[in-house]
Amino acid sequence: MPVRLSPAKINLFLYVTGRRADGYHELFSLMAPLTLADRLEIIRSGNGIKAVCSHPDVPEDDRNLACRAAALFRSAMIEKKGDPVFDHLTIHIEKKIPVCGGLGGGSSNAACVLLALNQSSETPFSTDEMMHLGLTLGADVPFFIFGTPAFASGVGEKLVPCRQMPHLSVIIVNPGVPASTVDVFRKLEFGLTFTPSYIINPSSNALPFGNKLDGREILHNDLEGPACSLYPEIGTAKKEMALLLQRNVYMSGSGSSLFALYSDHDMAERSYETLLQARSENMKFIFLSRIGLWDG
Ligand code: ATP
Repeated sequence: MPVRLSPAKINLFLYVTGRRADGYHELFSLMAPLTLADRLEIIRSGNGIKAVCSHPDVPEDDRNLACRAAALFRSAMIEKKGDPVFDHLTIHIEKKIPVCGGLGGGSSNAACVLLALNQSSETPFSTDEMMHLGLTLGADVPFFIFGTPAFASGVGEKLVPCRQMPHLSVIIVNPGVPASTVDVFRKLEFGLTFTPSYIINPSSNALPFGNKLDGREILHNDLEGPACSLYPEIGTAKKEMALLLQRNVYMSGSGSSLFALYSDHDMAERSYETLLQARSENMKFIFLSRIGLWDG
């Protein structure tokens, strides 16, 4: 199978709107895929389903979300067609997306494997069916199957395309501290208010920052407070980044990655160079990326 790109995402804003009886949190978020991406190569050989990845924090066995996606697809194929299609699969993952960075790398890899296997098996499953399958692996997986900028609600599975997403460049800084999504949500319980400071009707598709950015756009992430109190390095990196860029900086997902938005790519490039030169040890990875519009 051809090498595939498995994109990262950012949450431009994220509100936690409730908690379900099963413990999952409900949220309202604007999510966008990035051009920053892992590279995946799926080969139909090996011994069972295995991943190969040189990143020390990525498991190569059935704890890997890409392997779990392949196993899930195989079971679904047995159920639907009585044919597993494959017994052995090796998934080579070249990691570019920081792990536990709030950029959805694992979920993206899972979606990428589901999409690749579905395509190479004459698409037995519709996009909707794939999104349902993906949801059993993680709340962000349906978004990566959807593949376009979208307003997400529910636990992340109710998606409405954001058709007015402007072409944006994004500077991403990861402070090198992995943030545990479970711990960040647990921490949120203490100060939870569930009151979004603005409500956007997804069907109106209005964006809180319009189509041009002037550095004063105001976005919000309910998980930023808890993440910064658990991992103070995030707050430190955020302050440094905002000062150097003279721009608003936001956190993606449950952290730890931070981002700044630019509608002018040349300006983003200059700011990226500034950041590379002035970086401190609080900025372990710095990327210049773009919002990937329709190429999920
Ligand atoms: P999210 O924003 O969806 O919460 P994240 O970007 O913060 O996710 P991931 O990088 O997806 O977090 O990784 C979370 C955990 O999943 C890590 O503990 C990692 O070891 C594990 N994991 C399993 N499979 C993968 C994979 N293919 N890529 C990255 N991490 C994986």
